[in-house]
Amino acid sequence: MKLIMSLLYKSQVTRGQAWQAIFSREMPDLAFHIWPEPCDLKAVKYLVTWQFTPKLIDSLPALEVIFSVGAGADQFDLSHVSAHIKVVRMIDTSISDGMGEYITFATLYLHRHMMDYHHQQAAGIWHEIPLIPGPKRTVGIMGLGQLGQVAINRLKPFGFKLRGWSRSAHQIDGVEGFAGEGELKAFLAGCDILICLLPLTAETTGILCRSLFESLPKGASVINAGRGGHLVEADLIDALYSGQLSGAVIDVLSVEPAPATHSFFNHPRILLTPHIAAMTDADSAGHVLLDNVRRHRSGQDMVGQIDRKRGY
Ligand code: NDP
Repeated sequence: MKLIMSLLYKSQVTRGQAWQAIFSREMPDLAFHIWPEPCDLKAVKYLVTWQFTPKLIDSLPALEVIFSVGAGADQFDLSHVSAHIKVVRMIDTSISDGMGEYITFATLYLHRHMMDYHHQQAAGIWHEIPLIPGPKRTVGIMGLGQLGQVAINRLKPFGFKLRGWSRSAHQIDGVEGFAGEGELKAFLAGCDILICLLPLTAETTGILCRSLFESLPKGASVINAGRGGHLVEADLIDALYSGQLSGAVIDVLSVEPAPATHSFFNHPRILLTPHIAAMTDADSAGHVLLDNVRRHRSGQDMVGQIDRKRGY
């Protein structure tokens, strides 16, 4: 069989081998190369990667689609990538299920004062903190996309008052909706626990900053499982110091991996996790990629295609 086009995978090798096995079984007429094995770069139609250099893109004249191995594509600098090249992020149930678990855990951790109980345990203190019933607690979700909606569904059974903020208006059963810059302050004013599940774009970079924290009720807490670039880290430290915020659960930082000297590591009011809220399962994600390549080859829309003008 003549190979007329190929896919170049440039990321973690063991996952690449698992995906290569799926493709050789399900789509044998597409050559699946794992970087840096030698291949004819002129025949590469699909690039599957977490990151690329301008030099790599320039060496792929037949490139039609760049697939991100992760749930976002904000890590890509697309400024030198021709507009006809499509960019697709990974939308997979392993990612949304993992995020659903993490958000449930982090919300309950803050809601049930687990940060305080952890400190009390270390200090040998036996002391009850009054419990606020779920329906008296408002949880606000920034970003009502794939992951924001999963978070809402997971949080509903606990009876929290739920509100959400997005770019365009959404009507979600049991959720008070707010949209756009104009409704941000009203949204924030009621949030006891704020969850960021936004994509990182020019508009959302640095959104978790001093003025946003000041718009929350005093003593509110924050969960950031979006991207590190959403958070102005020094402003979080100041807001925790002043008591404007009572705690934060942070999964993402602007520099990852964080150096051991990062101030969040031993901050008493921050629970820091190393970008583990969601993880891509190699097997299910391999089938998502396969399905998207099939879609592209048959002229159908792919799942997770980025609107390059909008940035997500
Ligand atoms: P989606 O693209 O499905 O949803 C994005 C949501 O954000 C939409 O509701 C969108 O509004 C809203 N939004 C975008 N820009 C703005 C803005 N300027 N103002 C207000 N709302 C805005 O993304 P996902 O839900 O799939 O993922 C969200 C992000 O989560 C990813 O981009 C990634 O950065 C992060 N992530 C983190 C992981 C981790 O392990 N920590 C794992 C996976 C993802 P609208 O609905 O109007 O378009």
